[in-house]
Amino acid sequence: MVSQTIDLLKNELPLEQELVVLPEDVVTGLVLVDIINGFCTVGAGNLAPREPNRQISGTISESVRLARLFCDKKLPVMAFLDSHHPDKPEDPYPPHCIQGTDESNLVPALQWIQNETNVTIRRKDCYDGYLGSMEADGSNVFADWVKNNHIEAILVVGVCTDICVLDFVCSTLSVRNRGFLAPLKDVILYSRACATFDVPLHIATNTKGALPHPQELMHHIGLYMAKERGAKIANEVLFGALK
Ligand SMILES: [Zn+2]
Repeated sequence: MVSQTIDLLKNELPLEQELVVLPEDVVTGLVLVDIINGFCTVGAGNLAPREPNRQISGTISESVRLARLFCDKKLPVMAFLDSHHPDKPEDPYPPHCIQGTDESNLVPALQWIQNETNVTIRRKDCYDGYLGSMEADGSNVFADWVKNNHIEAILVVGVCTDICVLDFVCSTLSVRNRGFLAPLKDVILYSRACATFDVPLHIATNTKGALPHPQELMHHIGLYMAKERGAKIANEVLFGALK
């Protein structure tokens, strides 16, 4: 039933993905969205997977591979980490990624990036990493990162495809379109390093306050909506000249 629905949806909303080649002579920044224990490590909290999940483990391994590539090339990397004050709930979700807990820290496979000089870590207390980069004085850590590093393209990966990843991509594209993010041109989502969580309908119906959230379907919709805003959706990413 669920797989039939997904097939139907993919027929109605076909998502064309592309091989994206990142030119060596242009600065591309890597944006890692919430690849943290609270969303990715089995049993780590209210919003963590209950059991191993292929989409999430694929996101971790592809993100680690890309982070290594970007660090080897000394290209800028920004990591958003969902981190909430215990008194500020984020409805409709239960408490998660409370600041100071291990839930709000990078997954073990990515913790090494904290020691890299090309990596900027930004803790945020909202879905959207762009808005979560705003400081009290009106400056924006993400916008400054783009400007100071002369970033012309960003490659975005992480969780959740249809929530924090999508919100960040939407805001960034709107701000870019308004002309405030120069020299940023391209926002690329790498689908194989994006994931979302799985709450099938039958589980949601029996869980108080839960919204149904079938993983495969919502992942597809998240990518589709990002494309609707003008993001490129990549199913493969390479560095160098296209042959
Ligand atoms: Zn959150």
